[in-house]
Amino acid sequence: GLSSRLQSVFSKLRGKGKLTEDDVNEALREVRLALLEADVNFKVVKEFIAKVKEQAIGQEVLQSFTPAMVVVDIVNKELTALMGGTQSKLARANKPPTVIMMVGLQGAGKTTTTGKLAKLLLQQNHRPLLAAGDIYRPAAIKQLQVLGEQLKVPVFSLGDKVSPVEIAKQALQHAKDHNNDYLIVDTAGRLHIDESLMDELKQIVEAVSPDEILLVVDAMTGQDAVNVAESFHKQLELTGVVLTKLDGDTRGGAAISVKAVTGCPIKFAAMGEKLDALEPFHPERMASRILGMGDMLTLIEKAQASIDADKAKEMERKLRTAEFTFDDFLEQMEQVKKLGPLDQLLDMLPGAGKIKGMKDVKVDDKQMSRVAAIVKSMTKEERQNPDLLSPSRRKRLAAGSGNSVQDVNRFIKQFEDMRKMMKQFSGMMGPKGAKQLKN
Ligand code: GDP
Ligand code: MG
Repeated sequence: GLSSRLQSVFSKLRGKGKLTEDDVNEALREVRLALLEADVNFKVVKEFIAKVKEQAIGQEVLQSFTPAMVVVDIVNKELTALMGGTQSKLARANKPPTVIMMVGLQGAGKTTTTGKLAKLLLQQNHRPLLAAGDIYRPAAIKQLQVLGEQLKVPVFSLGDKVSPVEIAKQALQHAKDHNNDYLIVDTAGRLHIDESLMDELKQIVEAVSPDEILLVVDAMTGQDAVNVAESFHKQLELTGVVLTKLDGDTRGGAAISVKAVTGCPIKFAAMGEKLDALEPFHPERMASRILGMGDMLTLIEKAQASIDADKAKEMERKLRTAEFTFDDFLEQMEQVKKLGPLDQLLDMLPGAGKIKGMKDVKVDDKQMSRVAAIVKSMTKEERQNPDLLSPSRRKRLAAGSGNSVQDVNRFIKQFEDMRKMMKQFSGMMGPKGAKQLKN
């Protein structure tokens, strides 16, 4: 992928110490290739390389003590600038409700993102209303209603016989009448951009004057995503883009080119099908993720949102005083799980690419649930006191959890090691740990 390509270019540079102009030129040639292969728009690549080169070939850089690091830093800054520089926040109406309209091709993730966005707003104590404006796709209304039920967020629908324009209008009135401070209008998509779709969307825009028109695009479609964004922007004057399916995007090109080509900022990134897999898009974090520097800030934010601070403190205390039991272990594991799938978590840690590549280090979710099954087969006393685990008891645990006795033995032996790992995790999650990482 793009990340590993770039990382190897830079590690070659770092190995050199003092750099010559030729070294930099050669590295930038490889960066250029890596970007093109990642499906970044050709013009964008050209301008990007020119900008980086101009700065990197300068005397101060080549003469500096750490020229390779300075070059990486320049690439990082330019990449960040390319993706919009700073985070672009969701607009807010002076007079509520703030109206957000979701547009995009069929299957891009509009409806799913509507749910995810509602969840983010709920977490900020807002009162969103969702409007079911896709009357064409069978079951589209139902899909939104199911999401609404899950989130306990109201969904406004007039069935599939009333026009989407009318639905949007009445939904806006409903939001006003019911004190909803956000209205998110889900709309229909087509497989391709066509006149009638655009006309309908324009009429909705006219009817409810959205504060945000968010285009949802599938990042996996690379350059196509950028082309789609360009066409929609010409017709509708988008206010922002949501990139979905970044979890499956091995090439990353769309994230890099969308802003540069359309001028439209990426406001959110979606990295999974679940409702909590939506994050505000931070250009600087995306850049460092692409460059393999990890994304500690996102991780810390997620940790702080989902980890109970009091519990984390109590865990830390237990770890320090060696009172940590199998029960605590289970609980801690649940907390770590809340942060998301482990491999996704590892993606965010600096240098984690290496850990994942190592064959004998298994940190997958399956492994975690097998281990959880062992603990769940223990009695209350056994969970508190590992010394009770005699061979016959271990046999029972193996049978009860569907593991071999060797698996059980290995796990109990590893328990000590895991304590250490958990100690690191809980250190990071506590307020003190987070501060350390930010500095
Ligand atoms: P719509 O036609 O634009 O409303 O698209 P949907 O919201 O119905 O989503 C289409 C499919 O893409 C569904 O199966 C979603 O679960 C899936 N999807 C949406 N966002 C993401 C994402 O960020 N990652 C992944 N892997 N799948 C997603
Ligand atoms: Mg939909």
